[in-house]
Amino acid sequence: MTTPVDRPHLDTEQFRRQAHEIVDWMADYLRDVGSRPVQPTAEPGAVRAALPAAPPLAGEPFEQIMADFERIIVPGLTHWGHPGFLAYFPANTSPPSILAEMLTATIGAQCMSWNTSPAATELEQVTMEWLRQMAGLSAEFTGVIQDTASTATLVAMVTARDQALGRLDGSTAGRLDLLTAYTTLEANHSVPKGMRLAGIRPGHIRMVETGPENAMRPEALRLMINADRAAGLVPAAVVATVGTTGSTAIDPVPAIAAICREETVWLHVDAAWAGSAAIVPELRWVFDGVDDADSVVFNPHKWLLVNFDCSAYFVKDRAALLGSFGASAEILRTAHDDRVVNYRDWGIQLGRRFRALKLWFVIRSYGVEGLRAMIREHVRLGRLLAEWIEGEPGFELIAPATLGLVVFRYVGHADGKREVRRESFDAMNRTLQNRVNATGRVFITGTSLRGNYVLRVALGHLSTSEADVGAAWELIRTAARAH
Ligand SMILES: *Cc1c(COP(=O)(O)O)cnc(C)c1O
Repeated sequence: MTTPVDRPHLDTEQFRRQAHEIVDWMADYLRDVGSRPVQPTAEPGAVRAALPAAPPLAGEPFEQIMADFERIIVPGLTHWGHPGFLAYFPANTSPPSILAEMLTATIGAQCMSWNTSPAATELEQVTMEWLRQMAGLSAEFTGVIQDTASTATLVAMVTARDQALGRLDGSTAGRLDLLTAYTTLEANHSVPKGMRLAGIRPGHIRMVETGPENAMRPEALRLMINADRAAGLVPAAVVATVGTTGSTAIDPVPAIAAICREETVWLHVDAAWAGSAAIVPELRWVFDGVDDADSVVFNPHKWLLVNFDCSAYFVKDRAALLGSFGASAEILRTAHDDRVVNYRDWGIQLGRRFRALKLWFVIRSYGVEGLRAMIREHVRLGRLLAEWIEGEPGFELIAPATLGLVVFRYVGHADGKREVRRESFDAMNRTLQNRVNATGRVFITGTSLRGNYVLRVALGHLSTSEADVGAAWELIRTAARAH
């Protein structure tokens, strides 16, 4: 029998005590996070200055590490699960996801091959199939979990590149320098970055014009592709966004897909944020036309209660994906290879975390109906805030709040006392944002939309209630009145 004395670094009774203590800390944190400032006030470098410059030679007691965690680390954090966290995009989580993540860390499974953790691989197959059904995607799609949407988009771009190169022959064979790719300025930064990393020349990454709703204009895409073909270039990939990070604009995927089919260009749909809405029947329209795309990604780690990271990548042509990412190292080969899935061949990394477990815990704990109710509530809160904004003199709603993101700006009081020139609107909104954030009770961010600085309230956390949205709106109105 093994006793703790034989293995002094694995005292399971001590671990049990510490784990219980940490679980208590976690429950208190989830209950009370709203009473902390949502953003830290520390100056840059303050956390580093509070920590020793060199590592400890001898091990330190758990109590001391935990005390420093509470004293130095926690006050230096931005609390993404704070009910007043309305910035960027939601990166939500939930108790079942957190619990599953604890199990994942405990088991420490490596999910590179079926053989290295059979249940992990098969659970990933099952949960990806569940997600596909939940989102109403065609059965032609097969899913795989990637760490982030950025990685999924890079995977799509590399696959698209290889498919386009595979079609070249004669004098153009192997001419990576001829490939072009298309998206819009409203696309997430990860999109042009993925194109560049896949080897598309920066000068061949095209930003297609957008219309008044900040969505791609298909006629403009058509003209750009025609012009590139005429110049002897080879269109390889289009990335359409369903729910831009700035304003949840939705590119017209059906029209874009028709062009891509005709031109044999890979169409990837980045639905990182808004894609989760497709599980709600009355919001399934967000995926209109997506069944005609080659690949699509959405993030359960944004709006499906699975903690970061867990990105669902769906692709139709498995052979194309495996052609680009298959790794046939002898040491990894097993007798089961023709009957199983080896996820190391489905993406960039060899080593993979056991992410399917938290997805499984979440889907089972809430059920599809529970997850739908969560999304409906965020959409309802977004519409409510949009109504308040529309009813408030001096405020302008910038985009329809259909998916839990409210984009607006302050344009000054209509009482005629103060003339505000249009050029100062941007500065005014930045000031308003800083004032609201300085309260420590809410955190909102802004973005540039069609040349104007606008403010955003992004809903999607389990902790945010109608009262929290009301309180945030009151802070915004108060800050505006103080202008
Ligand atoms: C958040 C977001 C991304 C980036 O997602 P990661 O998973 O963090 O890489 C990409 N595209 C859109 C539209 C997003 O909203």
